[in-house]
Amino acid sequence: MSRPAVATIRLDNLRHNYQLARQLHGGRALAVVKANAYGHGAVECSRALLGLADGFGVACIEEALQLREAGIQAPILLLEGFFSEDELPLIAQHRLWTALHSPEQLAMLQAWPGKERFPVWLKLDSGMHRLGFDVAGFRSAFATLQQLDCVEDIVLMSHFSRADELACDDAERQTALFDEARRGLESEASLSNSAGILAQPLAQRQWGRPGIMLYGATPLDGDHALASQLRPVMQLQSEVIALHRVAAGEPIGYGHRWVAPRDTLLATVAMGYADGYPRATANGCPVLVDGQLASIAGRVSMDMIMVDVTAVVDARVGSKVLLWGEALRPELVAAHAGTIPYEMFCNIKRVRFEYQ
Ligand code: PLP
Repeated sequence: MSRPAVATIRLDNLRHNYQLARQLHGGRALAVVKANAYGHGAVECSRALLGLADGFGVACIEEALQLREAGIQAPILLLEGFFSEDELPLIAQHRLWTALHSPEQLAMLQAWPGKERFPVWLKLDSGMHRLGFDVAGFRSAFATLQQLDCVEDIVLMSHFSRADELACDDAERQTALFDEARRGLESEASLSNSAGILAQPLAQRQWGRPGIMLYGATPLDGDHALASQLRPVMQLQSEVIALHRVAAGEPIGYGHRWVAPRDTLLATVAMGYADGYPRATANGCPVLVDGQLASIAGRVSMDMIMVDVTAVVDARVGSKVLLWGEALRPELVAAHAGTIPYEMFCNIKRVRFEYQ
């Protein structure tokens, strides 16, 4: 039998989450499937959304071409745009949409000798200060793009930096700046990521760009009624591969960072940081063993974790262990590890992927 570490990807949950995002947003929504669909499998997830999603968002041309090679004909937006002029013929050939965020990109487009035409998403820096033009540069880039024969259509976009923080009003300020910057410019617009869709009802424009919420995790930093409707897509599972009885007072694992508080039944589970399970979780992080709550004892090793299963009824070699999924929300594990579900999902590797 092969190693039992498996990521089961619930495509029905992905479709549910996409439909929720689109309904909350109220317009069209690009499903953000960059970074291999946040570790879930870009081709499989995009195929599962065909016929539902209005298009897809990726980080770079390689990710876009992977989808085209898999036969996906829907619109694909390069969220960060192109990196060199060599990419323009490919963008034209594969009918990709591209973001445009810098004077350097604008110059490359102005120098493009081809006959093909591209839809361009012009990016405003409304406060993140990562990508995009300032207000004056944005309006002048818009005027330039309108004159270019190769520009088919312009969508105006910006990106939130703090929409996930429920007590912060930065997203409102960014929304106001975005609307001010595009005043009088006749174009569709796109503003909201998942946090915007969930928590900023006034920020929806023609196009939404949900990412993390599609995979069933909330980006929000507090409880929110809508977030509880998201269904985790990745069910990260493994099995107990060994059991040990240890006496009270016995230290265990690397560095002996956990000491048995009583006579203890310890389960060793095939899941470690080489699978992408966060090493920072350690003592006390919840797992479900045959559906019963238990917790990690000691440090996460490369290939294994140990779990205190003293209170688990009928724990045995072969017991099923859920590391995160529908019954154990990934946000809980992320909080233990001091990280975010985005990073946890992207890191998962080596485990077998099964699609349902
Ligand atoms: N739009 C852009 C431009 C992004 O860079 C991202 C991801 O970082 C998203 C949308 C999706 O964000 P989220 O996963 O928070 O919904």
